[in-house]
Amino acid sequence: MSPIFVLYTLVTLSTGLALLLVWRHDRTQGFTALLGLSHLIFSFSPLAYFAMQRPEPLWHGLGVGALVLISSLYVTFLLTGFGQLSGRRVTWRQGALGLLALCVFHGVLLAGGRELAQGGFATLNTLAGLLVARWMVRLRPVDRFCAVVLVLCGLNQFTYAFLGDAGTQQQTVVATGLRLVLGLALLYGALTRSSREFRRMRDRFFELTDRSQQGVVVLCGSEAVYRNPAFQRIFGMDPARPAPPVFSAAWLDATTPPEVREAAHRRARDLVAGRVQDPEWEGPRISLDGRALYLRFRAWQVDWDNRPALQVVVSDETASHAAAQALWWQATHDELTGLPNRSALLRRLRELVDPARPHPFALILLDVDRFKSFNDAHGHEVGDAVLQALAQAILAQVGDQAELLRLGEDEFALLVCGEAPEARARTVTDAIRALVRDPLVLPDHRFYLDVSMGVACHAAGMAASPEQVLQAANAAMRLAKRLPGTSVQWAAEQIRQELAASFGAEQALRAGLRNEEFALVYQPKVRSSDRALIGFEALVRWDRPGHGRISPLDFIPAAERTGLIMQLGALILHRACAQLAAWRDAGLPVVPVAVNVSPLQLLDTGFPHTVIGALQTHKLPPAWLTLEITESAAVTHMDQAYEQIRLLREAGVEVALDDFGTGFSSLNMLRSLPLHTVKIDRSLISPMPEPDAVAVVTAICQLAAVLHLDVVAEGVETQQHAQAARQAGCQVLQGYLFAAPLGADQATDWLRAPPVAQLDALDVPA
Ligand code: C2E
Ligand code: MG
Ligand code: MG
Repeated sequence: MSPIFVLYTLVTLSTGLALLLVWRHDRTQGFTALLGLSHLIFSFSPLAYFAMQRPEPLWHGLGVGALVLISSLYVTFLLTGFGQLSGRRVTWRQGALGLLALCVFHGVLLAGGRELAQGGFATLNTLAGLLVARWMVRLRPVDRFCAVVLVLCGLNQFTYAFLGDAGTQQQTVVATGLRLVLGLALLYGALTRSSREFRRMRDRFFELTDRSQQGVVVLCGSEAVYRNPAFQRIFGMDPARPAPPVFSAAWLDATTPPEVREAAHRRARDLVAGRVQDPEWEGPRISLDGRALYLRFRAWQVDWDNRPALQVVVSDETASHAAAQALWWQATHDELTGLPNRSALLRRLRELVDPARPHPFALILLDVDRFKSFNDAHGHEVGDAVLQALAQAILAQVGDQAELLRLGEDEFALLVCGEAPEARARTVTDAIRALVRDPLVLPDHRFYLDVSMGVACHAAGMAASPEQVLQAANAAMRLAKRLPGTSVQWAAEQIRQELAASFGAEQALRAGLRNEEFALVYQPKVRSSDRALIGFEALVRWDRPGHGRISPLDFIPAAERTGLIMQLGALILHRACAQLAAWRDAGLPVVPVAVNVSPLQLLDTGFPHTVIGALQTHKLPPAWLTLEITESAAVTHMDQAYEQIRLLREAGVEVALDDFGTGFSSLNMLRSLPLHTVKIDRSLISPMPEPDAVAVVTAICQLAAVLHLDVVAEGVETQQHAQAARQAGCQVLQGYLFAAPLGADQATDWLRAPPVAQLDALDVPA
């Protein structure tokens, strides 16, 4: 084989291989593989020619077959390659059919003799070149140049057709040159296309990251090799001010709040060492210009200039986090004072009584006395200001000894955690007592406030639900409410046990009702002017087997809690009415009986009906019955109380406001409620005849006179009490001086003839 053939073969072979190598590095250019294959295959065409020219039929046959296949494959790969370059897709099926057609075509040409074959090949290749040229019209110059060279290759094949064997050498020389030029042009096109594509990808990456709202930083080891503008913006990096290297120790110190700094350092060490255990994290950060941030990070390994690197994406979630925090704050805090609210207290209590990790603590419930009437008198704005000032004052007074929460209205809670909760709670309640001794100073007012506090202590290991602890403190607070001035009551062990076994209390009360263990005692009320018996107050007692006689102070709250007060209240009413009927039937001079009514009964809209029903059952005139409602009940449920009292008075039943002076009723309320009588509480009578106490009771009596209300003095224990109360203007007296609550028989005796000794003891001034 002549050297020029060898050269031709080598040129075609090497351009084919070079194109295949380009494809190997840049798989996006699939057409380079097809064109590479076309060249590679075509490089074997001189061998096929030589074989074909051999006289031996076998070699000749093999040469013909090889040439047919090589030429057909060459054209097929060439057209599919350039087709793909110009965006034309050829399916396998189309490719296979085309190949078959070409094989038949080449076979027929070769069967017709060498000249015909050469002419046919030249025509086919020229036409193929022209087709490619058409496809390349809109592509780059280098692609169009390739098409031109391809046409020239086809035209060059006509040399043999015109000159015969003499032109073989010349044709091969030109073909070698053309193949070399085509190969180089194709390689140049593929390489420029590849680098252009790379540039395009890189530009797109930077465009995307530069415009991204998310911060992006790429770390190669400890060096930040890339960071986008958003990253710099989020962290407040200013080109004018030098910043510590990103993720360096100094950077972390500057950008993390102290509570998360240690964890941030640990994570950064892992990241720099290429350990990404947890690819996502979030937390509070501080920008270099001092803004508080909340950021979410995501990190993953990337390849950066053939180096392993870490790409970290930072999302600024400060706004959404702040919104979520605000919502959470709203749900768990009180708007007026900014203190944690009732739901926060329940959550805290649940944590504290958690059986897995029980903590000793004390819960103090604090309620401002007479706040309702205070609000009525001064308006809600002043009321709100008082609550805010009180909250601030308590916070300042108790410091970190207790957590302060506001449960609603004028009710606050203090949580005292730690060992020896009783002692700690006592320190806190003492501090609050000391606080309210001085007036609360507002810009335009000074107010003396009284507060009632109920304390429930919870020892570690004690089984109780948050609700039970709350109930115990609440019950203690209600007891404190009954005491005048600022007072503290401790949930007694017994109350706690009772609460823990509230189911037991309910069962015992039910049994008591069933077995008629409740009895009424009657305390006489006498006219202050002549000490004549003018009525009784019916007071309930529980003769509980095994427990003796139980005071209503101990079981009425339990009955209220369990809802059994309705049943018990109705029973008491019927008992009192039955007693009145018995006295009447015995022909005794009947006096009215007053029955105490629980606030819960008063809330029941069917209550007036129950009362009237009881009177009718026993055929009693309504004037024989008086109902005593406590001041606190009337205040808390003013609207319902008003309606119920109105209905009762309409029916002829008299209504007295009990325990007056311990609650929070305003003068306005005294005027607007349709009452008949006011009962001044024992706590105001017992200090008499001290001048202050006398002045207070006198003022109440004068007011009552204006409002046409009768006044009863409760808890009259001494002659001085009786005398002072009468002089102050109380028309009726009630107390141990005259009689303790009496059994039914003794009360009957009183009706027949009040004991002379009692009346003799009176010192009735002329
Ligand atoms: P209250 O209605 O203010 O009843 C007066 C209380 O003072 C009675 O206590 C009575 O025994 C007591 N007392 C009377 N005179 C004196 C005195 O001179 N000195 C002292 N230190 N105390 C005196 P009691 O019977 O223990 O009742 C306590 C409270 O329980 C009553 O206060 C009332 O709020 C409630 N209660 C009593 N009976 C009933 C009832 O049938 N139904 C309801 N719902 N509550 C009742
Ligand atoms: Mg009473
Ligand atoms: Mg009373």
